Amino acid sequence: MEDVSLSTIRGIGPARLKAFEAAGIRSVRDLVMFLPRDYRDLSAFTPLCELRPGEAYSVHVRVAGEVSQRRARKLVITKVYVTDGSETMAVVWYNQPWLKDQLTRDRELMLYGRCEARGGSLQLSSPTIEQETGLIPVYRSISGVPPKAVRQSVEAALKVCEGQWPDELPESIRRRYGLCERNFAMRNAHFPDSREALETARRRIAFEELLLYQVAISLCRHSGEPGVQIASSDADLAEYWSKMPFPPTGAQRRVLQEIANDMRTPNAMARMVQGDVGSGKTAVAFGAIYLAVRGGYQAALMAPTEVLARQHYEGAKAMLEPLGMKAGLLVGSLTQKQHRIAHEAIASGEWDVVIGTHALITEGVEYKNLGLTVTDEQHRFGVRQRTELSRKGAAPNVLVMSATPIPRTLSLILYGDLDISIIDELPPGRKGVKTRIVPEDRRQGMYGFLRSEVQKGRQVYVVCPLVEESEAVDALPAEVVYENLRTRDLPDLRIELVHGRMKAADKDAVLEKFRKGEADVLVSTTVIEVGVNVPNASVMVVENAERFGLAQLHQLRGRVGRGSDEAWCFLMAEPNERLKFLASTTDGFRIAQKDMELRGPGDLFGTRQSGSIVCGVGTLAGDTQLLKLVHDEARSLLRDRDSADAQAVIRMAEEAYVQKFRDAAIN
Ligand code: ADP
Ligand code: MG
Repeated sequence: MEDVSLSTIRGIGPARLKAFEAAGIRSVRDLVMFLPRDYRDLSAFTPLCELRPGEAYSVHVRVAGEVSQRRARKLVITKVYVTDGSETMAVVWYNQPWLKDQLTRDRELMLYGRCEARGGSLQLSSPTIEQETGLIPVYRSISGVPPKAVRQSVEAALKVCEGQWPDELPESIRRRYGLCERNFAMRNAHFPDSREALETARRRIAFEELLLYQVAISLCRHSGEPGVQIASSDADLAEYWSKMPFPPTGAQRRVLQEIANDMRTPNAMARMVQGDVGSGKTAVAFGAIYLAVRGGYQAALMAPTEVLARQHYEGAKAMLEPLGMKAGLLVGSLTQKQHRIAHEAIASGEWDVVIGTHALITEGVEYKNLGLTVTDEQHRFGVRQRTELSRKGAAPNVLVMSATPIPRTLSLILYGDLDISIIDELPPGRKGVKTRIVPEDRRQGMYGFLRSEVQKGRQVYVVCPLVEESEAVDALPAEVVYENLRTRDLPDLRIELVHGRMKAADKDAVLEKFRKGEADVLVSTTVIEVGVNVPNASVMVVENAERFGLAQLHQLRGRVGRGSDEAWCFLMAEPNERLKFLASTTDGFRIAQKDMELRGPGDLFGTRQSGSIVCGVGTLAGDTQLLKLVHDEARSLLRDRDSADAQAVIRMAEEAYVQKFRDAAIN
């Protein structure tokens, strides 16, 4: 099918067109491929008496009392009691004053929302008022297009495509794995006829997406091809470690040895080092750089942000320059003159080690003899950027580092082009973060503890979940928590708020204040990411912890416990199996594995990764069997590249690769 512009769809005018474009949706096809991130089940209602805190429900109720409305600073809180005969319960909305007139006594309502425990009883918080029944798709929110309009546009796009978009996946492959046709899959992925139809659709889409990804990534695999060979002796490794300020952990020593062995072969290395936050990946990367430079080559290290690049540059000056190696920095914010000087130093080979951001892969940067590229925090880069850096040399060795532990089965697919080394040991002396689950009735006690920690001079993070589109709240949960803390729970402490809707400059100002110790408590959404390093912060409180993936919670708590003080993480939630598991272990791999089994691979990356490959299949509940099938099929296709099936899939993969990976990088 010829791809068609979005403007052909009824209801999409110039303003909406812009809004969709800003979200990366440019054509009818893009819109059809914009899969729901969840579904609201309005085919069955749960009796109020069966609601449990922390879960979302559909309920069918009637208004059982008078509406009340009150103000708390910037918030307007609307509250009403509802019943379905089995139980009576309060419902609360924030900043939707107009609801007051709609919630007349005895009116029947279908509500979808989350049950929360408040002051000893249960309530529904900010539910949506629903009109339709069945499985309703929930899309990632698109700023400027209301959820309902997104749904209608998708529906119209599906109509345009129906019957016009041939199924390119070879029939023989579909047969072999029992996969449904594309049209059925797309329609039912958006507007499922039933749970079963949805599963069938998802399986087909996930299979295709993973297969194309795997094939694409194998096509750009560098390892196995002739590449730069870097000679080194075991004495060189010992020499390197002896110059470090600390003895390496067993895992660091082993991984650097694996890297050295790999670089000694005539084939280019393509290796990922995975290790939890704080496991000491930097020292290993510098070790690899040391070997490359000693072997007569240049090395480049790319970080996702300028803050991180500068930090690595300082590290390189401290650790590598005493060993006789010249390090240089190349980041976007340099002046033109500094850029020119950097380019010259790189081209002439004056700089042995170049550290920077994506500025390293822009046009105009020519290396003298690049033998090794290192990419830090790899999950923040797209495949394309990763491969582009390696194109700057004649098949240099490639090392990527990731703090997101990924179970083996998933790595095979996502990083099928890479060998993997794992740093599974933390440097000695780390206290680890004590994690506790705090149910609502213990909240006040916890605040007492926070106060005593602050009195000892420590600082506290309070992290709140992002608002989901399905909730239609006008006030951020973070704002609500912030107001409660400063007016009610901890009015004597200095409390600040930071969230994603703030201007960058305001955000930075608040973060700086916290860093300088001018605030005791920082309330935030999950926007607080890399670069925030406040060793004095020793406590993290996570509101609505049940909403986060385990891997994400694990990464979050990694932000405290960086100093020498005892660190705490409080998960505000009713205890459940998942959270208990998190509280019981600090092993990032076990956590990632569990998370994938329970919630699917998408969650491993948190919400930031939305738009990337794994998100589309994120709801695939840890289907390791499917992952294995895909892996095997990709291998067999690539073994027999000339077959018609392989040719068809390779064509699809190339097309998808170009389209999807172009924007895959999030920075
Ligand atoms: P990450 O794996 O998160 O990138 P870093 O490389 O930043 O971790 O290391 C975290 C901290 O641990 C740094 O301050 C580093 O100096 C220190 N460190 C690394 N390896 C060791 C070790 N073997 N012994 C003691 N401290 C170490
Ligand atoms: Mg690091």
